[in-house]
Amino acid sequence: MKTETTIQGLSASLQTARAARKVIGFVATMGNLHEGHLNLVREARRLCDVVVVSIFVNPTQFGPNEDFDNYPRTLEQDSHLLAEVECDILFAPSVEQMYGTQPRLTTIHVEKITEDLCGLQRPGHFDGVALVVTKLLNIVQPTYAFFGEKDYQQLAVIKQFVQDLSIPVDVIGVPITRAGDGLALSSRNGYLTVEQRKIAPIIYQLLQTSSARLKEGATLDMVLRDIRQSLTEAGFVVDYVEARAVNLSHVESFEQDVVLFVAAKLGNTRLIDNLVVKYSKLIG
Ligand code: AMP
Repeated sequence: MKTETTIQGLSASLQTARAARKVIGFVATMGNLHEGHLNLVREARRLCDVVVVSIFVNPTQFGPNEDFDNYPRTLEQDSHLLAEVECDILFAPSVEQMYGTQPRLTTIHVEKITEDLCGLQRPGHFDGVALVVTKLLNIVQPTYAFFGEKDYQQLAVIKQFVQDLSIPVDVIGVPITRAGDGLALSSRNGYLTVEQRKIAPIIYQLLQTSSARLKEGATLDMVLRDIRQSLTEAGFVVDYVEARAVNLSHVESFEQDVVLFVAAKLGNTRLIDNLVVKYSKLIG
């Protein structure tokens, strides 16, 4: 596996692949890699000739009171893991390499679908994501780019601007990878204390129970209220518990596939999760 830290170096490394019209797969990460990330890389490996993974903790997607400075940076360990899953090129640029030293005057803002869920508590977050992903897609110019369904809203935002800006890439969503106890893997899980780590899987348990209850006829309002109450009782500070259609539009009742969304803080650690509940199972 090659490691490149500059845009120029990466372009040079990809030159032969591009000339030979190889299928280039790309996975964007902020590092501190776990099985969730590695499954994205495995999927890229399965579908593509050349796999590029970026590790870049992107300052523009963190709010002023968020964990940018403390975000875990474990490049050496990540590099070993990526070699094991046969990544071809690791792109690990500096902030200066990505953003330069001149003032930036361009914003990429996706409307509507960024306005609620994580967009409410994290103003500007999705603008930062849209900006860095656009830059990375322009730099790597992959055929396929792989993103996790764990960040469901982020995936929707990326699909939207890729379509709106005619970026020539196929965006592929990859299912959530979970720990054995159901907790969605996340680099932020490392912030949890031993005690909090035992509590955290409740989020997924509640999502699953709610899915079953919806299929048995409970209303969305009932299950959302109960998730919120159970999380609070377990010691979480709930950010949001919401249901949306798969395209993130609002839904009043369970008469189509819905996605249940949870964002909640355990101590200082903000956890998110989601579960798609298929409507067809109710009637089929
Ligand atoms: P991050 O390093 O948190 O920016 O994540 C990089 C990519 O990995 C994003 O597309 C995430 O959605 C994806 N990802 C992170 N955790 C998981 C997980 N548990 N399952 C699936 N994808 C994930």
